[in-house]
Amino acid sequence: MFLSLKSIELSGFKSFGKKTELVFTSPIAAIVGPNGSGKSNVAEGFRFVLGEQSMKSMRSKKGEDLIWGGSPGLPRGNRGGVKVTFDNSPDRSGKRLLDIDFNEVVVERIVYRDGQNEYLLNGTQVRLKDVIRLLAGANIGGSGYQIISQGEADRILNASPRERREMVEDALGLKLYQHKKAESERKLEETGVNIEKTKSLRREIAPHLNFLRNQVEKIEKGREMKEELAAKLSEYLARENAWISQEDARLLDDARAHEQEMKQLTVRLQEASGKRGESGASRAKDLQNTLRSLEAKLSDIRKRREEIARELGRAEGALEATNVTVEAIVPVPHVRQFVREVDEALSDAERAGDISTLQRVIGDVRSRIRAFVEGLSGTAPATNEEVRKDVERLSATLKTVEQEEARIATDLDMARAGIAESREQSFAAERESVELQSKMREIRTQLDASHTARSQLASLRQRFEEEVREGVALVGAEIRNWHDAAIPHGALSEDRNMQEKRRREIERLKIKIEESGMGNGDAVVKEFSQTRERDEFLSRELADLEASAGSLKDIIAELEKTIDMRFHDGLKHINEALKNFFAKLFGGGHAKLFVEEPRRAREVRRGAGLDEDEDEEDFEEEQELYAGLSIDVSLPRKKIRGLEVLSGGERALTSIALIFSMTQVNPPPFLILDETDAALDEANSKRYADMIQELGGKSQLIVITHNRATMSAAGELYGVTMGQDGVSKLLSVKLEEAERVAK
Ligand code: ATP
Repeated sequence: MFLSLKSIELSGFKSFGKKTELVFTSPIAAIVGPNGSGKSNVAEGFRFVLGEQSMKSMRSKKGEDLIWGGSPGLPRGNRGGVKVTFDNSPDRSGKRLLDIDFNEVVVERIVYRDGQNEYLLNGTQVRLKDVIRLLAGANIGGSGYQIISQGEADRILNASPRERREMVEDALGLKLYQHKKAESERKLEETGVNIEKTKSLRREIAPHLNFLRNQVEKIEKGREMKEELAAKLSEYLARENAWISQEDARLLDDARAHEQEMKQLTVRLQEASGKRGESGASRAKDLQNTLRSLEAKLSDIRKRREEIARELGRAEGALEATNVTVEAIVPVPHVRQFVREVDEALSDAERAGDISTLQRVIGDVRSRIRAFVEGLSGTAPATNEEVRKDVERLSATLKTVEQEEARIATDLDMARAGIAESREQSFAAERESVELQSKMREIRTQLDASHTARSQLASLRQRFEEEVREGVALVGAEIRNWHDAAIPHGALSEDRNMQEKRRREIERLKIKIEESGMGNGDAVVKEFSQTRERDEFLSRELADLEASAGSLKDIIAELEKTIDMRFHDGLKHINEALKNFFAKLFGGGHAKLFVEEPRRAREVRRGAGLDEDEDEEDFEEEQELYAGLSIDVSLPRKKIRGLEVLSGGERALTSIALIFSMTQVNPPPFLILDETDAALDEANSKRYADMIQELGGKSQLIVITHNRATMSAAGELYGVTMGQDGVSKLLSVKLEEAERVAK
């Protein structure tokens, strides 16, 4: 048969002060020896090396008690160690006892005086839980039903239904599932904590994330507006620049043309002023002088002509008188002539402004009057011939004078015409000057207007530059691209209002952007994307956690199902075996394990009268339901039922039957029974030995016994003795010697 336990080595452990090794070669090994020789220490060595944490179950108070305490012959040790060697070679199906790729596995535990423990797996230090997990996989360890310590045979009967159930589960190999379930539950709990943590992290982030999202939305909007602004501004600036340049050129041309015209007008005005000025005036003066002298000449010549005419009249009168009798009658024409002359002379006098002229006229008038009177008185007449000659001479002179007078009159007319003409010319020049001046005023106005327009244009240019600067600040340097842009269609001919409309639109957009209050916002966008990534990460994590919680729950449910199924199935088999063993041991009767109604831990305790004054809070924590295992026993030929009424031997037999039944479904690799047979009488010892033999077919057995029947069932016997030095010693013995050794 396959032996999973190859050997155990105790060194410095309890009474084994010296290194001692037990090598197992038979399915049933019996350890025999006198009381106090150290047999139970071997069983405890097994407990120890398999990871037992209860000091009590190793009859100690502290780790130090497990170390060889020393004796006069052998000083105490510093460390106590036990090493157990498993055969881990694969079976026919390739399965190994322990889930580790070694054909031989050595588990070692060492305890030091300071209570520190060390676990080694094939010489490599490992953790306790690694050992426990490895052994649990092979159905070793746990509730400890495999190692029945001395006096503990009825432990399973004394145990609470809950502990009993644990032992049965352990025996059924459900410990591994229980471990897995506990592990999953722990993970589920951890996952739950992490889910809560993650949720609370997300809750913490949420307001900030929302705030940032709002900010980023504003920034995006701001960016869109900026893009819109950039487009509008580009067009506007391109148009504005084109228009301003064109206007500037046009106004410059206009100004030049006006200035040119102004120059020409100035020259013309100078010319006109010249005409109207000094030369015109001196000519007019000359003409006036000429006029005045001609008038004087004409007046003189008229006087002369009149004198001559008078003389002629007188001469003609004389001539008539000579022809006719001189009469005192004065001819009428003569008188008229005289009156006219006097009248004219007086008129001249009237006109004259000065005394001398008046005096001269008065003198003249006086001489005329004298002459007229003399004529009347009849001066001595001249001869007829002389008179005729006088008349002819005077007539001829008169004619000449008259001609002279006519010539002068013509000259005078001409002079007058000249003056009129000169005046006319002066008027024309005056008119022209006036016209030119008004034209110049007009042009000056135009020039002023174009200067004003140019200075307005300059301030427009300034505004334009300002707008460019502002645009660069708001939108970026690329806004300067306007100067590369083609002049937009119709930019130079459209209504200026259109551009003004664009400008207002841009201003409105700028205000909106300013109101949005967002600067560049890169930092906010970055923070938002980081925070969002974090939130998304947390959300994914949450989903992962929830998924893993879900699958853990599934696993737990599955495990529970498996445990439940295997438990009930195993329990059925255990009960079948129990029925058989019990009947064999008691020659009838029956025993049965049954599942109690699920109960709350608290109720059970109350029922047992324990922990009465426990806190209510603890009660809350103990709401968990469990269904323990109870035993129903009925002995043959006895009416009374129940564990309480059994004798010591009957309790031992019932326990043995129970323990053996439990090993049937999922036989453990080995069982260690420390004087489980102590209370049996001879007949029962025989039955016990039979059962041991039967059991040995499935599990390796190490039995510590004083019982001969049990010894005879063993394939090999070890004797433990203790000498004067207090050190347990080991010797291999034959059955014949065994009884002697055991005494
Ligand atoms: P019985 O047949 O009466 O059950 P046993 O063979 O099982 O006896 P054990 O109980 O294994 O005997 O051994 C007890 C002996 O081991 C005692 O003599 C005790 O002094 C000794 N012992 C226990 N711990 C130590 C220790 N730390 N150092 C030295 N000896 C120890």
